[in-house]
Formats: sequence, C-alpha cells, structure tokens
Amino acid sequence: MTQPLFEKVAFIGLGLIGSSLARVIQAEQLAHEVVASTRSQKTLEDAKALGLIAAGYSDPVEAVKDADLVVLALPVRATEYVLQQIKPYLKPDAILTDVGSTKGNVVDAAKAVFGEQLPAGFVPGHPIAGAEHTGVHAGKVDLFANHKVILTPLPTSADWAVNKLIQLWEAAKAEVICMDVDKHDEVLAHTSHLPHLMAFNLVEQLANREDNLDIFRYAAGGFRDFSRIAASDPQMWHDIFFANKKAILNAVDGFEQQLAILRQLIEQENSQALMGLLGHAQAARQHFNHMLAKKPLMENNKVTQQFTILPGSKNFQGKFTVPGDKSVSHRSIMFGAIAEGTTHVTGFLEGEDALATLQAFRDMGVSIEGPKNGEVTIHGVGMQGLKAPAGALYMGNSGTSMRLLSGMLSAQAFDSVMTGDASLSKRPMERIAKPLREMGAQIQTTGERGTPPVSITGSQQLKGIQYDLPMASAQVKSGILLAGLWAEGETAVTEPEPTRDHTERMLRAFGYEVKTEGNRISLQGGGKLVGTNIQVPSDISSAAFFMVGAAITENADVTLEAVGINPTRTGVIEILKQMGADITVSNERIAGGEPIADIRIQGSRTLKGIHIPEDQVPLAIDEFPALFIAAACAEGQTVLTGAAELRVKESDRIQVMADGLKTMGIDCTPTEDGIIIEGKGKAGDWSPVFTGGEIESHHDHRIAMSFSIAGLRNSEVIKIVGTETVATSFPTFTQLTAQAGLQIEVTE
Ligand code: NAP
Repeated sequence: MTQPLFEKVAFIGLGLIGSSLARVIQAEQLAHEVVASTRSQKTLEDAKALGLIAAGYSDPVEAVKDADLVVLALPVRATEYVLQQIKPYLKPDAILTDVGSTKGNVVDAAKAVFGEQLPAGFVPGHPIAGAEHTGVHAGKVDLFANHKVILTPLPTSADWAVNKLIQLWEAAKAEVICMDVDKHDEVLAHTSHLPHLMAFNLVEQLANREDNLDIFRYAAGGFRDFSRIAASDPQMWHDIFFANKKAILNAVDGFEQQLAILRQLIEQENSQALMGLLGHAQAARQHFNHMLAKKPLMENNKVTQQFTILPGSKNFQGKFTVPGDKSVSHRSIMFGAIAEGTTHVTGFLEGEDALATLQAFRDMGVSIEGPKNGEVTIHGVGMQGLKAPAGALYMGNSGTSMRLLSGMLSAQAFDSVMTGDASLSKRPMERIAKPLREMGAQIQTTGERGTPPVSITGSQQLKGIQYDLPMASAQVKSGILLAGLWAEGETAVTEPEPTRDHTERMLRAFGYEVKTEGNRISLQGGGKLVGTNIQVPSDISSAAFFMVGAAITENADVTLEAVGINPTRTGVIEILKQMGADITVSNERIAGGEPIADIRIQGSRTLKGIHIPEDQVPLAIDEFPALFIAAACAEGQTVLTGAAELRVKESDRIQVMADGLKTMGIDCTPTEDGIIIEGKGKAGDWSPVFTGGEIESHHDHRIAMSFSIAGLRNSEVIKIVGTETVATSFPTFTQLTAQAGLQIEVTE
C-alpha cells in the first residue's frame, strides 16, 4: 500500500460537507486514522456505524491531538470559539483548514485567536458544492466531483500545506482554484449571496400582499425557478449575510443601481435601450458558458453524431435559402455598430463566430436586437461612440473578429484586451499588430510567439500608411483599412494577389468611399458610416452542396435564392459549368454592396470529367469536397492540381475525401496537391455510382455534407460519423435536404 496523504485527520463538525469529505478519505484511503468531534453524541455514533471515523469525541481537544490535518466543517460562526479551544493542542506542523462559505470572517476569527502570525499550516477553503439536506447521513462520496473548491492561501500559508490540500481535494475529483480572501468573498457575494438575498426578498414581497394565496396558487414557472433557493436554511443565510456584510452590501448597491436603470427604461418606454439591455443580458448568459469552457460551441457539444442514408432513387427539388455568409455577417455588425443611425440585417448567420463579434459590440455599449431568424437590428453609435468594455472581449474561435477588431480598437479612446479559445490562442496576430504599430497604434500580442491575448492601449492618434501586404490575407487587409477610418490622411494596402473584398464592398454600402486601383485599396480617414439595410447573401459554400446534389440527380430542379456571387468566390459555378452542369444564374442584384443572384440547377445531363483549371482553384477552395462527389458521378477522369492548401483545412481534405470515395467504390488517386478521380457516370444513365459504407468525416463539416449528397446516388446504406460540426456552418442542412427529397437520419 502506498503511503497515505495523512496519518490522522480530525473533523470538527461532521455534517453534509464534513462527512462527504470523510467518505472520500475512506474510499481513497487517504489517511491511517479519521476521528471527529461534534456537538451531539448521536452524530458520532452514526458516523462510526457508517465506517467514517475510528473514534468520536465530544471535546474537540481530544480529536485534534496528534492530527496532521484538522478540518473545521461546522457553521462559520463557531470558528473562533473552537479555535480558541484547540489552539494549545494543535501539532506545530498540522494543516488546519475549513469549508466555510465565507472566508474573510474565518480569517478574522483565526487572527483573534492566533494573532497576525497565523500558523503556516492554516489554509482556508470553500467547496462550491452542496445539497438540500444536511447532517452526517446526507453526505455523499461524490459530492465534490466535477465541482470547484476554492482555497484562499494567506501570505502566512506554507506551500507544503497548500499542495497537500490540493491533492486532497483533487482526490475528491474537484477542481481546485486558489484565490485571494477578499476576491472570494466578493465573487461569492455576487454569484451566490445576492441571488439568495433576492430570492428571499421576492418571496417576502409577495407573501406580504393581501392576495398572497392567489399569487402563490397561480405562480408560474418563472416564480418557482427564481424562488427555489428561498427555501434554504434561514439560520445559515442569516449567518452568511452578516459574515460577508461588506461585500454583500456592495452587491446590493450594484443591484439597486441596475434596477433603477431598468425601471427608468420601462417608465420612459425606451424600447431601443430596453431591447439592448435585455439582449445583452441574454447573450451574456449564453456567452459566459463558452468563455468559461474556452471552447467553441461545437467542441462543447461532445456528442458524436452520425448520419445514415438509405439506398434507392430520390428526387431533389425545390427552392431554398441556405444560411448567410459568415464574412459578411461579421462585417454587418462591426460596421452597423460604428455607423450613424440604425442598420437592419437579414440573413445573419447565427453561428458561434459571428455571435462572438455581436457580443463584443454589445460589451462596448452598442444596443443590438436579435438575432432572431437571421434578423439583427443594430443601433449605431457613430465613429466616436464605442464605450470601454468592462472586461476582456472574448472572440471565441474567430480569427476574423480578432484581426478586424484589432484595427478598430487601436483607434479608440479606451484600452482593451481581446482573448480567444484554445485554438484562436495559437493563431498568429503579429501580422496585423505590426502594420498597426506603423500607424501609431500601441498594440501587444501577449501570448507566446505573437499570439493572443491582444492588448491595446487607447487614445493614440493613428496616421495613415501605405502597406504592402506580405501575404494574401483579407483579414489583415481589412484590419488595416478599419484602423484607417480613424487615421490621419490616406491608408492604403497593396495585396500580392486579390483576396476577398467584403470589407471594401460593405464600407461602400455604408456610404464610405474606398478606392480600388488594381491591387491597391485605399481610403481617407475621418469620414463616417451611415446605417443601412444589409441582406447577408446566402453562403455559396453552403449552396454548393445543393448545386452538386441537383447536378447528379435525374430530373432534379433546385433553385437557391439570394446566393452571394462575389467574383472571388464563384469558382464552383464555373467548374460545374465546365463539367456540363445545367446551371442558370438569374436575378443578379446588389445587396449590402455584394452581388447576389438566384441559382437554378437541373439534373438534365450527365456531367463529364475535366482537368480543373488552376486559376479557378482559389475561387472554389472550400467547395472541392462537394466537387469531388460531382467528379465521381461524371463520365471520365477529373484531375485537380494546384490545391495543396486542401491538406491543411479542418481536415486533410484530399486524403479524407479519397478514403471515403474508395470506401464507396470510387477509383481515385490522391496526389500531393490534388486528386485524380475516375468518374463512374455514363451518359444518360442515372443509376447509383456509389456503393455505401461507413465514412469517417474527421469532424469536418464539409466532408460530412459532401458524402451526404452522395446519398442521392447510392446502392447501399451510407453511414457518416462525426457529423455534429455540420450544425455550426449549416444548421438547417438535414432539414433542407429532407425538403428537397433526401432523407438523412440523424443519430447521436
Ligand atoms: P451540517 O450538515 O449542518 O453540519 C454541521 C456540523 O457542524 C454538524 O456535525 C454539527 O454537529 C456541527 N456543529 C454545528 N455547530 C457546532 C458548534 N457550535 N460546535 C461544534 N460543532 C458544531 O452543515 P454543513 O452543510 O456540513 O456545513 C458545514 C460548513 O460548510 C458551514 O460552514 C457551511 O457554511 C459550509 N458549506 C456548506 C455548504 C452547503 O451547501 N451545505 C456548501 C459549502 C460550504 P451536530 O452533528 O452535532 O449537529
């Protein structure tokens, strides 16, 4: 047997919390001997019968003799009295800890007994776990599992004591956090004590009304949810409210101020500000979960999902609107926020990344309504109207948000910090910080190797620069141009090859002049944006799955409405046309500065294999997985070259697609920078070209959707695993395919 952590552990108080910890110590064999002292003999007898302690004493002095760990697990108000008694009998190197819900008063009690020089082994603690019942029988061995335990080491606390307590709590499967005593009391005052106080207060307010019976009888779910914690033990909360008086009074003051604001907005019927406030609170509630998890939505969603598609011939028909373009969704919020007047956005992609941008602007005081069914209303605050956020701005997984906002924030009158999730925290930010510094910005990438967090010192007067982009990056270009809006004189960027020009187009839609002369894009600082209506185009990358689906299915007839046809993105249309697909682009128009159109595809003739022109590759880079499915259904060979970038997308899309195609009976050869696919199609023959089988999508949404589309021409069951990521870029995918005629069974 390995040496246990402790020789002898003494509990003073052995109720819910103490006995739960005693259960862990017994289960994990963390001590040779466990003893306790409580007020009642019965508790001690019960604890012995439960096998939790070897001996029980009514006098705490007897319990602590020779103990190397003493745990105070009793009401906080009894701390000073108990310490006074046991002080002369504590071993000099004993660890002394407690589990009380407040910490400042426990430390005060210890100081009253020991003086300023507290024992080195004294480390206060607080497990953030509980249950409705108390007492020795209520304890559970797993009470602390997956909960947090806060330790509040003091300047006098020794590292050996802290480390041993961390080991103890980790053995209870808790997550240990170390925190300053005052911080602990302040945090708990806001997150636990104030909510309890409000619950008691609300129930009291209603109970005092004459019609209280009616009110309680008809109480709706909201009241029940909110008042549940008012059923807690009054003695305990009485003690906590006094014990943490200062921090709780501060929290109550903050509550009163916020309540007064809300009251005034209702009284004045200030609809815009009220919507802004409620929307901000609602989004913050959701957003905090992600911030704490430091993961994008999709990773939080740990379930692995699977698509199953049965064989048999299918129809593929209808008119559809696929989700909005992400790049345009981001910019609609950013530009709407700094515009004068109101901007109304439709078709907004409610994905994690764009929502991070939206939250950042709410945090900077912009009133934003929605998103609801893709509609967002932004009440612009003008070029000088952004306010300092209360804390760091969390950008989730979105590189676009962080790079574009770096430019905007460099020009603001306040300091700011941007953080991101684990994956964003690895991405290079110096590429945008460097040119911004040349403009006079004070911006630091504070992670290792020029990575986030990004820290910006405000109130710098920026100067326009002429910058030659060393890499083709629309994000860096956009970040510089956005800083240029506030800079003195002209800001110009020259790009090595054309990149997506959504920023330039949308700035113009907001009435800001941007010049594009060849590869040089420039603007003058000091202008203003005027609120407008933005229709976010449907994402051509999402539309591509329906385009390919229709092109490979007999008698298919699909129309995709309001799809973005920005010339930097339309390679998929050109390539499918060259393969002989029946595509018509109609109703071309401009929305929010972006060209959009309706795209109709009919399954009227068999596609033919081609050598894909390399100049189309950058214009269709995200659409190749879908195009490979088209190539497998074509007559003859399709060859792709010059597309090495596909190997470093969300997955190695060349290898993963080749593996899946082979599983489904398609002859193909992956190459370093592309693939050769032997199409199995024959002119006029619409019978299945794919067999079936189990496909591993590697959690890559585009792989999953591409093989789903292959389910229009399969002779056996197709199973695709790891499809949960589809929801992040195309939440309505299986719903729309079902409407068109392709049933996909989703299992989790
Ligand atoms: P509990 O189940 O009521 O147990 C309290 C224990 O302390 C009992 O064993 C009791 O003895 C003993 N005790 C009470 N007054 C005493 C006194 N004056 N002198 C000596 N022993 C005394 O309470 P609990 O829920 O475990 O709470 C213990 C501590 O944990 C409190 O400080 C509380 O703030 C903290 N805490 C509680 C929760 C929670 O949700 N309950 C969560 C986190 C932290 P008898 O058995 O003889 O009555």
